[in-house]
Amino acid sequence: MEALYSLFRNPARVACFSIDLTVTFGVEVGSGRSLANRLASALVAADEAAHDGLKWKYHDPESLEDASWKLSMLSQLDEAIDRGEVWVAYQPKLDVATRRIIGAEALARWTHPEKGPIAASEFVGAAEQHNRIGKLTDFVLEKAVAGAAQINKRGIHFDVAVNLSARSLTDKGFTLRLSALLARHGLAPNCLTLELTETAALADSGEALDMITRLRDLGVNIAIDDYGTGQSTLDYLKRIPANEIKIDQSFVKGIVDNRSDRLMVQSTIGLAHSLGRKVVAEGVEHRDILDLLAEFKCDIAQGFAVGRPMSLESLAKRLASGRRRSAA
Ligand code: C2E
Ligand code: MG
Ligand code: MG
Repeated sequence: MEALYSLFRNPARVACFSIDLTVTFGVEVGSGRSLANRLASALVAADEAAHDGLKWKYHDPESLEDASWKLSMLSQLDEAIDRGEVWVAYQPKLDVATRRIIGAEALARWTHPEKGPIAASEFVGAAEQHNRIGKLTDFVLEKAVAGAAQINKRGIHFDVAVNLSARSLTDKGFTLRLSALLARHGLAPNCLTLELTETAALADSGEALDMITRLRDLGVNIAIDDYGTGQSTLDYLKRIPANEIKIDQSFVKGIVDNRSDRLMVQSTIGLAHSLGRKVVAEGVEHRDILDLLAEFKCDIAQGFAVGRPMSLESLAKRLASGRRRSAA
């Protein structure tokens, strides 16, 4: 495998182009299963090797059930969208100062007819890895924009946030499709926020930065999701023209008991504010976290203490009852 790997390190020549190749190997050893099953296991192992940045990986027999599921999951996702098994849940976002719901984050949900609910991180991750995220993104955007437009038309100002995979930022037609979508539903662009992760890699890509700038010119808001995890640096905070920073839940959860988490969150809020960015705290699971965030002048809170992800109908009901309460 080492030798084969070296062979592929030389660029291949196709017509007059020189093309760089990367190869990874998956190995399945000595089981009595059918050739097709063993091949499927080896493919999954190769895929994991590529994801982990390794040259090769042995297939783990313990994840046997997992392997065939992982392979079929991707091919099922597109059809699941068409069959109506995929839907969008909305998790409310709370204005910390006024304690009112000002919007929601749209989160993809897949209820499989046999397996039941499948975790978003599982199918979103697989779709991203295999370059198949486009259809899911378009589906969630369509639902979220339509839903937000419907609520805004009732005279309730409501923002919706949609997660965008970094790959969509290299999709040339995206900005055009998005502005057509907003126009079709009559939603003001500033009522939509696009949440981006993997922003460290984005900051180095001129193409992605150009796209973010075009989206901002359109009037759409940009948020940096899961801030503080991965390779967040001060440099990319400065370079990415985001309006909003979402502090990852792993820091927020500990702010009551853990001094360093508290200091990190507090100083990130200060830093973001001085750069003119709004701050959203994710993973607000308890009331006392919310009170502390109010003290730190955090702008927006999201988490189980505010509300779990729910259907659009449940959210609309909650918004209406909140309005009645504040009018009374
Ligand atoms: P995210 O964008 O950071 O979304 C927040 C995740 O935290 C959601 O998980 C939400 O259910 C969970 N969460 C919210 N509040 C709390 C809390 O108080 N405590 C705890 N323990 N968890 C909380 P979910 O829905 O499983 O989504 C996981 C990730 O999958 C999302 O993380 C996002 O990166 C991705 N994702 C979800 N829907 C989409 C989508 O339509 N497109 C793309 N590209 N990614 C998506
Ligand atoms: Mg998000
Ligand atoms: Mg997040």
